[in-house]
Amino acid sequence: MSRERREACPICRRPSAPEFRPFCSQRCADVDLGRWLNERYAIPEEIDSDEPPPEPDPER
Ligand SMILES: [Zn+2]
Repeated sequence: MSRERREACPICRRPSAPEFRPFCSQRCADVDLGRWLNERYAIPEEIDSDEPPPEPDPER
């Protein structure tokens, strides 16, 4: 069982590079970090309930 395990980059699904695990490159690591930060910032602390939530555009 000495098979080298290659995880796929969660961003682009390419084989990950050891130095950027689990990503394949610094770029994908940055992308993931950016997403993570965005999710953090997206956490609503105080929502003004004056505005109604945006309605999804019905695509037809
Ligand atoms: Zn990648």
